Amino acid sequence: MSSSKTALITGASSGIGAVYAERLAARGYNLVLVARRADRLASLAEKLGQARSASVRTIAADLTAEADIAQIEHVLRQESIDLLVNNAGMGPSASTSDMSDADAAATLTLNVAALMRLTRAALPGMRARKLGAIVNVASVLAFHALPLTSLYSATKAFVLTFSRGVQQEVKADGVLVQAVLPAGTITEFYESAGLSIDDFDPRVFMSAEQLVDAALSGLDRGEDVTLPSVHDLNLWADYDAARQRLFAGTQNGSPAPRYATA
Ligand code: NAP
Repeated sequence: MSSSKTALITGASSGIGAVYAERLAARGYNLVLVARRADRLASLAEKLGQARSASVRTIAADLTAEADIAQIEHVLRQESIDLLVNNAGMGPSASTSDMSDADAAATLTLNVAALMRLTRAALPGMRARKLGAIVNVASVLAFHALPLTSLYSATKAFVLTFSRGVQQEVKADGVLVQAVLPAGTITEFYESAGLSIDDFDPRVFMSAEQLVDAALSGLDRGEDVTLPSVHDLNLWADYDAARQRLFAGTQNGSPAPRYATA
């Protein structure tokens, strides 16, 4: 039996995206899996096709390449996609000045431009159908920048802020936009970034399965922002309340007295 619901997942060839594919197939979704490594997508599709009755389609696409982004936009505009998981991302580990021009441009295009464009392509259909969800995979580095993560952190701050704005635009149409903020998650991400996961404190890592199961639980609860590794949710509530107080404190229309010139 095949479900009428379809999910499109970017970065489905490994890590978090591959677990989303498994979990959504188990929930009865038909899948469109997107990433560059066609061989990985094909074996995942075969595995899921054998285990589940849902249909699985793969599209080999480089989401830093204009033609490939346009191809996925086309799918999102033309087909009835119920759930978009914007998961593909990269984070080369290098200082801002040392990072290659190619890596810097690719990080910005993949993490920011492609995610924004696919979100925009998916929204009109979802709003018209009054149904749908977009999961944007950000990072806890959305609110924390470290040396060597400047660009990556900034791209994930974009994902969080963009998601929070879009949420307010489409909620009344029955469309949910969830920002997922993973902390350390055991995937190939670190190797791809030129790092070794063994150099980090193992206590801060969870498995990709734990991460995705928590994120889907957050989606089921209708959460706008999901922080799977944060046990004390008051931390987020305090942070968000401080953010709102700070914004309110900017609405003054005059320079603060400390900037008065003598
Ligand atoms: P991963 O195993 O390296 O997965 C990254 C995925 O993105 C792969 O499927 C990769 O597929 C795809 N991808 C990379 N470049 C692409 C491109 N140019 N075009 C299309 N797809 C591309 O790492 P992951 O941890 O699962 O990462 C998934 C998301 O979680 C990312 O957005 C990452 O920033 C975020 N995240 C991860 C962690 C963590 O600790 N692991 C923490 C916070 C946030 P191909 O190589 O086949 O294209």
